[in-house]
Amino acid sequence: MTRTITLLGSTGSIGKQTLEVARELGLKVAALTANSSVDLIEAQAREFSPRLAVLYDEDAANELRQRLSDTKTRVMSGMEGLLAAATIDEADTVVTAVVGMIGLRPTLAAIEKKKRIALANKETLVCAGELVMDAADRYGAEIVPVDSEHSAIFQCVQGCRDRGEIKRLILTCSGGPFYGLRFDELAGKTRADALKHPNWSMGAKITIDSATLMNKGLEIIEAMRLYRLPLSQVDAVIHRQSIVHSLIEYRDGALLAQLGTPDMKLPIRYAMTYPYRAQSPAEPLDLLKCPPLTFAEPDDRAFRCLAIAKQCAKAGGTSCAVMNGANEVAVMAFLHDEIGFNDIPALVETALSEVKQVSNPALSDILEADRLARESVRAHIS
Ligand code: NAD
Ligand code: MG
Repeated sequence: MTRTITLLGSTGSIGKQTLEVARELGLKVAALTANSSVDLIEAQAREFSPRLAVLYDEDAANELRQRLSDTKTRVMSGMEGLLAAATIDEADTVVTAVVGMIGLRPTLAAIEKKKRIALANKETLVCAGELVMDAADRYGAEIVPVDSEHSAIFQCVQGCRDRGEIKRLILTCSGGPFYGLRFDELAGKTRADALKHPNWSMGAKITIDSATLMNKGLEIIEAMRLYRLPLSQVDAVIHRQSIVHSLIEYRDGALLAQLGTPDMKLPIRYAMTYPYRAQSPAEPLDLLKCPPLTFAEPDDRAFRCLAIAKQCAKAGGTSCAVMNGANEVAVMAFLHDEIGFNDIPALVETALSEVKQVSNPALSDILEADRLARESVRAHIS
């Protein structure tokens, strides 16, 4: 069970909800990190008195250092700061709630210090899942997923003595705001349309990923890495109500699922208290008031990002890192109204055709693949 956390990405959607859970459970906070939000991280530092606060952006960190000069909190910046936070002695758990592949090196550093990783940052597992899982095994670090689907599966796998009994994982997918539309109907969709998620309130990047279904593609790869299963044993189904959070089909035909209202604090809380469960202040799901549960097949001809992700999952090597890096840059460009909705899969495919793939990649190959993919997308946008 967690007593003291480092929180990477404290100012984001998962970060803020993690601090709500920390208040609830009385957890201590050893370090907080974010990109550049001085006001919010200052308020968080004043409340939780961490030993370290990090802003990746150097100017913002300088401002924060001045503002916190009357406290005992030390302020750092850059990757050096993120690594110091991830490895700080006092923390037994590192919550990776930072968005993007920037979370990879801090996650690996925390694993080497045998911290429990409460993992929300899926991009890290998509780019370098095999390296991360191998390191976790080698150092004996626990990885407890926070992503709701993977937490559901993690909860359903408790008590399973032989992972060979798992026939397949079934991830549920809300379908996002554009469910039912054809590829050509998606073309004119704007940032404002895409930011209207039907069931979850999340950060901007993952909300766009949910609209393109890239999020489900990333999650399929995340599940393959976490549970060391091939693509043929990980499926996704559309479930518009977001009540069944995911399922395991065992070889005897039993389907185990975790159900609940769409509330990220449940998986966050479980990642903190695992293998125990804590009292929650939230209202539980009322089965008698819940809508009918429906399931359908995802349309990966309209939502090309899902098809691309499956191809990369099959290809392995550096292709997932290229796909992810290209997608991160393309989504940012879409959020800045620089490209259209269907340019996102097009730019990812172009990057995949331009960047040479490496099989059995080392960390340096993955970082290089990520860099080249970003360069490819930027070149095509300008
Ligand atoms: P968000 O955009 O709301 O927050 C991101 C956090 O990362 C912020 O604190 C930001 O300051 C920090 N950050 C961004 N760039 C950084 C950088 N270069 N250096 C240091 N810090 C940086 O994102 P979110 O929705 O909270 O998602 C966080 C992660 O959790 C993502 O990987 C996402 O896929 C995953 N996730 C989120 C949800 C959700 O409900 N929001 C659900 C499942 C998984
Ligand atoms: Mg999810």
